[in-house]
Amino acid sequence: MKYTYIENIADFVDKEVEIRGWVYNKRSSGKIQFLMVRDGTGIIQGVATEKDTEPESFSLMDNLDQESSVIVRGRVREDKRAPIGYELSIGSLEVVGESKDYPITPKSHGVDFLLQNRHIWIRSSKQWAILRIRAEVVKAVEDYLWERGFMRFDAPIFTPSACEGTTTLFEVDYFGEPAYLSQSGQLYCEATASAFGRVYCFGPAFRAEKSKTRRHLTEFWQVEPEIAYAHLDDSIELASGMIEYLIERVLINRKRELEVLERNISLLEGIKSPFPRIRYKDAVKKVNELGESMNFGEDFGAPQETVIGKNYDSPVVVTHFPREIKAFYMRKEPGNEELTLSFDILAPEGYGEIVGGGEREFEAEKLKREIKERGLGEDAFKWYIDLRKYGSVPHAGFGLGIERTVAWLCGITHIRQTIPFPRTLGRAYP
Ligand code: ATP
Ligand code: MN
Repeated sequence: MKYTYIENIADFVDKEVEIRGWVYNKRSSGKIQFLMVRDGTGIIQGVATEKDTEPESFSLMDNLDQESSVIVRGRVREDKRAPIGYELSIGSLEVVGESKDYPITPKSHGVDFLLQNRHIWIRSSKQWAILRIRAEVVKAVEDYLWERGFMRFDAPIFTPSACEGTTTLFEVDYFGEPAYLSQSGQLYCEATASAFGRVYCFGPAFRAEKSKTRRHLTEFWQVEPEIAYAHLDDSIELASGMIEYLIERVLINRKRELEVLERNISLLEGIKSPFPRIRYKDAVKKVNELGESMNFGEDFGAPQETVIGKNYDSPVVVTHFPREIKAFYMRKEPGNEELTLSFDILAPEGYGEIVGGGEREFEAEKLKREIKERGLGEDAFKWYIDLRKYGSVPHAGFGLGIERTVAWLCGITHIRQTIPFPRTLGRAYP
């Protein structure tokens, strides 16, 4: 008898296999018992009858609870009506660990209750599907970049300074001196880009987001590519190609999971880069035309991003944001010091920003002026300014937020379900 995972069950039609898993659900109909068993790779329906099932195992089934761990042995049968196309005719069954009073039952629960029980909520099929899609996205991002010659390096988490604004910094006591949890690895990417050409970092970012939104976590994951000798358009092209590739990979490798989520995949299927582009100033006009108000110089909030995004059935690239609403390191548009060579990519269906990037200031004097005008304190950025003294070149990159991308691909409303253990305002448990 062969031990196998449910995902490989198709290789064992009409053969005896052993499945090691947990009871997902159970029902009986007269003398037949149906047992849904999950093993982390999928769920299979097991069928037990007095005829095919060992009597002792058959009677054990009366007392099986949801999430008891079980080893099930039996014959695989093809069944077109089953969700995965196969069923298991149960020969015998062994209980490994019982599960009394499992708190998450098939009835619906409030989201606070579910978040409090996140350590077991992740076993539920929708959560399972979302996190499997996340894993695919993470792998696909790396494949995409490696195929294009990018090298991964890991940026530090303890950092001496803010790079994305001081209002969302988490300060920690670093042996009596203040240090900050990284908001982004970008500045370090710039250093490694000059050492290795094309690089990316991939890691957690920490931001003390003090408002409750569907799009903000205090701990989230970002992939941040950076290219030496590159301009705004190069980084838009790389980001757009990446998004197109992520969709493709999820549609191919995570079809079953998208079905579990009842995702309308026709909204993803047609998406191809290059994506439509619009300048910030035109986007502001459009926002006002579409009935949300905003002035030039203001950043898009969720409602503004939503109305713009809803106007397109693919992601849209917004470029040339004003200086005051972008980070200090953004390079200015030649001949217009008030605008930056920056871009955001907004996902369709109202999902809002998933990518932010642009060209970096590579001239030392301009960068120093910006740091000074913003009152950022040159000391912490000395090393960063150094990069502009030793063989500085135009360079560009972006950051793609994993959770927002996954939320969009999955078609779910809140990003807290796209990370195994979400950290939000007011929640750092479990
Ligand atoms: P927003 O204006 O929506 O807060 P941002 O402009 O602060 O986003 P960037 O600094 O450009 O975002 O970060 C790059 C990407 O990281 C964003 O496009 C988004 O996908 C993701 N991101 C930023 N902040 C968060 C957060 N708090 N939670 C989850 N993802 C985030
Ligand atoms: Mn932000």
